[in-house]
Amino acid sequence: MSSGPQQGDLFDRDIPPWEIDADCQCWAASIVFSEPPHGPFSYRIDPPIQDVLKPGMRVQVPLGRGNRSVTGYCIDVSMVQQHPNSLKAVLSVEDEKPLCSSHLLKLMQWMSDYYMASLGQVFEAVVPVGVREAAGVKEILLLQPKSDLLVQDLEKLTAKQRQVVDYLVQTGEPMSVEQLKEATGVSVDVMQRLRKSGILVGQTVRSFAQAHAPVSGPLQPPAALNVDQRQALQQIKVAIDSRQQQTILLHGITGSGKTEVYIQAIEYVIRLGLQAIVLVPEISLTPQTRARFQQRLGKIAVLHSHMTHVEKHQQWQRIAAGEVSVVIGPRSAIFAPVPKLGLIVLDEEHEPSFKQETIPRYHARDVASYRAMLEQCTVILGSATPSLESWQRTIDGRYQCAAMPRRIHNRPLPDVEIIDLRLQKMSPQAGSISRPLAEAIVQTVRDDGQVILLLNRRGFATAIQCPKCGSVANCPHCDLALTFHQDGNKAVCHYCDYQIPPPPRCSTCDFDAMQYGGTGTQRLEEEVKRRFPSISMARMDSDTMRKPGSHEKVLNAFRNGEIKLLLGTQMIAKGLDFPNVLLVGVVNADTALHFPDFRAAERTFQLVTQVAGRTGRGERRGLVLVQTYSPEHPAIMAASKHDFHTFAKGELIHRQRLGYPPWGSLARVIFRGELEEKLEAFALQWTQLTERAIAAVGVDCRLLGPAAPPLAKLRGKYRQHLLMQAAEPTILNRLLRQVSTEIKTPEDIQW
Ligand code: ADP
Ligand code: ZN
Repeated sequence: MSSGPQQGDLFDRDIPPWEIDADCQCWAASIVFSEPPHGPFSYRIDPPIQDVLKPGMRVQVPLGRGNRSVTGYCIDVSMVQQHPNSLKAVLSVEDEKPLCSSHLLKLMQWMSDYYMASLGQVFEAVVPVGVREAAGVKEILLLQPKSDLLVQDLEKLTAKQRQVVDYLVQTGEPMSVEQLKEATGVSVDVMQRLRKSGILVGQTVRSFAQAHAPVSGPLQPPAALNVDQRQALQQIKVAIDSRQQQTILLHGITGSGKTEVYIQAIEYVIRLGLQAIVLVPEISLTPQTRARFQQRLGKIAVLHSHMTHVEKHQQWQRIAAGEVSVVIGPRSAIFAPVPKLGLIVLDEEHEPSFKQETIPRYHARDVASYRAMLEQCTVILGSATPSLESWQRTIDGRYQCAAMPRRIHNRPLPDVEIIDLRLQKMSPQAGSISRPLAEAIVQTVRDDGQVILLLNRRGFATAIQCPKCGSVANCPHCDLALTFHQDGNKAVCHYCDYQIPPPPRCSTCDFDAMQYGGTGTQRLEEEVKRRFPSISMARMDSDTMRKPGSHEKVLNAFRNGEIKLLLGTQMIAKGLDFPNVLLVGVVNADTALHFPDFRAAERTFQLVTQVAGRTGRGERRGLVLVQTYSPEHPAIMAASKHDFHTFAKGELIHRQRLGYPPWGSLARVIFRGELEEKLEAFALQWTQLTERAIAAVGVDCRLLGPAAPPLAKLRGKYRQHLLMQAAEPTILNRLLRQVSTEIKTPEDIQW
C-alpha cells in the first residue's frame, strides 16, 4: 500500500484567488487508476465528452507533470465547484457503454473502503480483463435492404440475389455476410454485387465475431421434496417475497438434499423474472454439478478460471443483457452483472476458497452480503459444517436458520470409529495404514463396495531429514521443509515451487543416508499398491490433476466401478455423491490440527465431517475409520459423532475467551523485505505508531507482535507480522488508515 502523491503535487497550475468566484464550476469526472498513484483525481469533461462519459467507463487522461496519457476508470461524474482551468481535461472515452452497473460501482466503493484496497485495483478484480479489453469484439458489417426498396428493384434481381433480399425482408433484421451465407447458401460475391448496386446497405457495428448460441434441451421436472426440504424452501420463498435483504443459513447435513433446495429456490426466482448467482468452491464445480443445474434451469452461465478472455467477455455481456437466469461460478462470480438480482447462493459457505488471498483480499460471503443489501435480495448460505461466523449470526438472530438434520430417504449417517494411532503397532513396512483400516479395505472391496482414503498432504515424504544430526532439508527461499516427490525424483517447496534433486548428503554434517519421513499421497499410493495389489485404485491430488479433464476422467472411472479405491487430498473430501462408497478412511486426521491458525480446529472438524459424508449415500450403510494421534481432541470427537452443535458450542466459548472471530475482528499486517534487521525495525516502528494511534483515538485494540509468522521467509523475502484484535472491523480500519498516512515506507519493504 502506498499513500502516493496528493492531488496537489500532480497539478501544477495554481489559480490566483481573484480568478475564483462563486460561479466557477464545471463538469468533472472522478478517475481512479490500478497503478499508483491510485487516485481518485478529478478531471474536467468538455462538451463532446460530456454527452458520452458515464461512471464505469474507461478513459484516457493525462497524468503527472509529464502529462503522459494513461487509462483510468471513471467512477463518478458530477458538477464541481472548481474553476475549469484548475483541472486537466479527459482526453478520450474508450467505451461505448459502462463496463458495470451503478450497483457494482457502489459495491466496489465499499470493497475499497472495507478491504483497504485502491478503487482501481478493486475495479480490475471485479471487471475481468477480457471485458476491460473488449476481447473478441470485432467490427462487423451488417447488411439490410435499402429503406426505399421498390417492387421494380426486385424484378431486376437474379434468382440468387432475390433469395438474399427476400430472406432479409422476412427476418427484418440486419445480418452479417457470414450469417446470410449460412442461412441462404448463396456465395459472398452475390451479396457484394447487391451492395454495389445499392439494393443492400451496410452498417458496421462492434460485436463478437461468433455469436454465442447457448444450447439447452428440455428441462427436467423438480423432485418431490421431503418434509425438511419443503420447510426450508418455504422459509426461503418468504424471504425472497419480502424483497429485502435476508440471509438464511441452510444447515443441512451431508446428503440431506441441499442442492435440490437451491434449485427449487432458483426456479422460484426465475418465475418472478429475477436472476440468481450461485457460488461454489472451484473444486466442486464438476461437470456433474454443472449438468445438474443445466438440466433443471436451462439458461445458465458457468464461470470458471480456465475460460479465455473472449469467453469471459462474452459471458459477461450475455449476463449484463439479462439473457441468463443463473450464473454459477467460484468467488468472483459474485460480481456477475445480472440486471435483476433476486437470490445469491453460497454452497459450502465455510470453504476457505471463498476468500481471495491477493489484493483485494475479499471474502465472497461478505461481498455477497453487501451486494444483497444494495439490491435488497436474499442470500442462502448452505453447509453441513457452517463457519462459526455464520453460525454465531444465526444465534444473534441476524441470520435465519433452516435446518435439514436428516439424510434423503432417512438414510443413516455412517458409523465413525476412531483408530488411536498411539495404540497401534505400526511397523515401518506396514506404513501408514493400520491393521483395522487394512482389514476394512479388504472387506469392503470383497463386498463389492468402494473406498475413499483421505490424506491431506501431497508428495511422497513430507520431510527429508538427517538421522544423525536431525537437520531437515529446507527451501533456501522459504525456510520450509522440502517435500520429496517420487514422480520426477525431486525435492519441492510447496510454497514457492523451488525444486532440486533430492540431496544425497546432509548439508550440515555431511552424513550420506538421508531419511524420508512423513507420508504424502504418493507414498500412500505406493503402500496401497504394494499391500493391495488386486485392488484397482487412483490417486487424486493437484499433482495428478494438472491436465484439464483429468478430474472428470478419474471420477467417471470411479463412478462406473472401474476404480475401487480412490485416494487423495481434500480434493476428494467434498461434494462427491457416489452411492457405492461404503468405506472412508482418514489416514491422518491431525494434518491440519496443529497449524498455528485459530481456525485449525474448525478446519479439522470440517474436513473429517465432509469426507465422512461421502459414504453411506446409497442403500447400504457406510463406515468411516479415522486414524489420529489426538483422539480426545474436541474437533475429532465431535466429527466422529457428526455433532456440529457440540463442536460449535465449545469452539465459540474458546474463541470468546481469546477474542477471536466471530467475537471480534482480526487484522493481520504482513511486512516483507529482503533485509532482516531493517524489516524488524520497520515492523516495530509500525507497531509503535499503532500503539500511539490507539491511545490517541481512545479505542480498545489488542496488538500481538510484531513477530516472525509461521512462514518467516517466503520466496526469498523475510516476513514479520502483527495481529490486531478489536471488537469491530471499523476500529481496525480506522487505525490502519491512521498509521498508513503517518508511516514512511522504505522502497525495499512492502506491507
Ligand atoms: P447435499 O448437497 O445436502 O449433500 P445433495 O443435494 O447432493 O445433498 O443430495 C443427495 C442426493 O439425494 C442426490 O443424489 C439427490 O439427487 C438426492 N435427492 C435430493 N433431494 C431428493 C428428494 N426430494 N427425493 C429424492 N432424492 C433426492
Ligand atoms: Zn520455497
